[in-house]
Amino acid sequence: MILVLGGAGYIGSHAVKMLIERGESVIVVDNLETGHAAAVHPNAKFYNVDIRNEEELDEVFMENRIESVIHFSANSLVGESVSEPIKYFDNNVFGAINLLKIMRKYEVKKIVFSSTAAVYGEPKQVPILETSETVPTSPYGASKLMMEQIFKWADLAHGIKFVSLRYFNVAGADASGEIGEAHGVETHLIPLVLQVPLGQREFITVFGTDYPTKDGTCIRDYVHVTDLIEAHIKALEYLRLDHNSEIFNLGSGDGFSVMEIIEVARKVTGHPIPVKLSERRPGDPSVLIASSEKAHKLLNWTPQKNSVETIIGDAWKWHNAHPNGYKSNKGAE
Ligand code: UDP
Repeated sequence: MILVLGGAGYIGSHAVKMLIERGESVIVVDNLETGHAAAVHPNAKFYNVDIRNEEELDEVFMENRIESVIHFSANSLVGESVSEPIKYFDNNVFGAINLLKIMRKYEVKKIVFSSTAAVYGEPKQVPILETSETVPTSPYGASKLMMEQIFKWADLAHGIKFVSLRYFNVAGADASGEIGEAHGVETHLIPLVLQVPLGQREFITVFGTDYPTKDGTCIRDYVHVTDLIEAHIKALEYLRLDHNSEIFNLGSGDGFSVMEIIEVARKVTGHPIPVKLSERRPGDPSVLIASSEKAHKLLNWTPQKNSVETIIGDAWKWHNAHPNGYKSNKGAE
């Protein structure tokens, strides 16, 4: 059985669906702080448990024969982490320590977990390699880097093998249109842009037009959530073959500016999508582009849906069909 922590969240719910479709038995643990019960696949066994609760997490391991863990449970907003650092270290770092204690107790030796491009901070070179310097500029990035270090030492001492996946900008939705991104307070560019054609927002604010890029707006590497999950499944297979612990970047390897994303969204939705130019958002590096060569070589991972038209098209399919996310009533946030 595979234990998916955070399986009710945006990325975790996609993992659960794909694992079940491939015949795996899946247990989901989620505290539903930001996740949605409705996003959890009906064939997964669900526990409403916070990973920081040692007793309750212990029960999950006691009741089930867990072979491996995929860990998505985390707070993940750069801006919020700057104002609420303790919340981030508590959930992300303390949560991971708690999990490791229990994995050690039950001798579960394989884990794939989410890390982030935010561990790099402002990159000195692009594309970014896994060996590039890690100087996080936010508590969120710092918390993920700490997690990687804790897992490294736990591997050396206790043989718990891990794959850490450093995500770039994850977007899009499952092609079925049944699950997708639905945050209480949305801060990410693509879902925010799509709120304009949905009639929930009049314009999209562009944060910063004076970056040293072709059109002055930030450049990011967008990776489709389905491709991202494929990498997790390959990472799990990698660990099942008794390989060593590894860290991989996950991105498409292409950079798109904020303006380019808005332009593609106009084409996909057929809506004019007005923009309002604004100041830079604190903490945003100008360019983040991944080298995913290592994942390509070691995991045999090649993103299939790396056109931003497909990424935004699949996100649009989800948002258009579920303008209020998982809420059945009106009143979208
Ligand atoms: N962005 C923007 N307007 C918004 C939200 C985001 O211009 O309303 C920009 C943001 O400054 C960054 C890019 O879009 O350059 C991607 O931001 P997002 O929050 O989606 O992801 P991040 O790169 O912070 O993980």
